[in-house]
Amino acid sequence: MHEFTPEIERVAQEILEYSLLRLKENPPLDGPKSEEELFSIVGKTITARGLGGSETLKLFTETLAPACISTDHPRYLAFIPSAPTELANLFDLVVGASALYGGSWLEGAGAVFAENQTLRWLADLAGLPEAAGGVFVQGGTIGNLSALVAARKSAQKAKPEVIRWAVACSSEAHSSIASATEVMDVDLIKVPVQPDGIMRGSDLEPALAKYRQENPGRDICAVVATAGTTNLGIIDDLPSIGKVARNEKIWFHVDGAYGLAGLANPETLKLFAGVEMADSFIVDPHKWLFAPFDACALLYRNPELAREAHTQHAGYLDTLNDADEWNPSDYAIQLTRRTRGLPLWFSLAAHGTDAYSEAIDKTMEIARQSAELIKQHPNLDLLMEPNLSIVAFTRKGWQLADYRAWSEKLLADQIGFVTPSSHKGQPILRFAIVNPWTQMSDIEAILATL
Ligand SMILES: *Cc1c(COP(=O)(O)O)cnc(C)c1O
Repeated sequence: MHEFTPEIERVAQEILEYSLLRLKENPPLDGPKSEEELFSIVGKTITARGLGGSETLKLFTETLAPACISTDHPRYLAFIPSAPTELANLFDLVVGASALYGGSWLEGAGAVFAENQTLRWLADLAGLPEAAGGVFVQGGTIGNLSALVAARKSAQKAKPEVIRWAVACSSEAHSSIASATEVMDVDLIKVPVQPDGIMRGSDLEPALAKYRQENPGRDICAVVATAGTTNLGIIDDLPSIGKVARNEKIWFHVDGAYGLAGLANPETLKLFAGVEMADSFIVDPHKWLFAPFDACALLYRNPELAREAHTQHAGYLDTLNDADEWNPSDYAIQLTRRTRGLPLWFSLAAHGTDAYSEAIDKTMEIARQSAELIKQHPNLDLLMEPNLSIVAFTRKGWQLADYRAWSEKLLADQIGFVTPSSHKGQPILRFAIVNPWTQMSDIEAILATL
């Protein structure tokens, strides 16, 4: 190890060849196998003397990789798929090969500079002020948690007498918000919303008043609006929620892990009016901004408040903290960090932002056309017109067991990957379309099985 031998050179060629082929060709959909089955093929891989690079790579390419669903397959429409650009994926190889450290300016200035320009692009699209800034973290879950910890810190400074804090979000908010309140040990106010699923300021205001009345000594440190729910793409009414938050001097966080990618397209941008009021927001480039896993862009209106909440102090770190430089580690729950924003930066810099806007257009158009086909389908009912690029519908006469059986067969037949979800207690199906590779012929192939 730690010596570049001819044997390593050969394995390097094999790895690059495999990687390029994987990028070039549509991957098979593939699917999971049981642990027993995998063990029966590959056996024990960790041994005292090692299997050798070529042999180990073979185990991966021939057995382990095909036991992973290709999340970038054009007919992978479950959850939120992944659709990294070729250049973003290729640059991930560079990031991996370069031992870049993204925690501090001292160690990673060039990389942090590039990540920060990418964050600036997002901050500008959202209409945040010049002072805004942030960091790429692992995912929306950590992004939301980090933002909410900063919100609480800021609230604690303003109102030290408060004995316990709460975070308010809609009953449709992502599960990561509830998870964050568990980790932080704060109360969660689930604001009831109208049947359309949209939280408005008029829903929020009475919920906040009720909490305060029922919980003397406690107060609310953050309001979370969702800009594109994962299930249906529903966008909360950002202007009225932002206004309530401003009036009550409560931190306004916007969870746009999926939807706020739409900032990059002038048409979808309009749907997010009000985001400029946010004290913080997140968007996951690994969802609809065509970056590889795992990257969440976390932006703060006033990063100084986040720095106070998140900077770690230790004898060996003081040399970083004392310098007046931008250290990404200071803005979230993390210390060592991969420069995970670089694949997006490279692709964005190389292709230009117009290409991103066009790619979003393409997915929105497929979503619209899919909704039309579903409306015409004799067995299907469209749940609602798509707000963004998620299309939800039901199959007439089906129970959950029918949906499950269909979904399993669809994957087993390698036609597609679509899992049942639920809405208001009823099972539904949804296509999450974030992959510009997805064509109408892919949608038609899946609809034909319904
Ligand atoms: C996906 C998602 C999250 C969680 O993001 P991860 O990157 O999976 O941690 C949070 N909020 C919303 C709205 C999401 O769609």
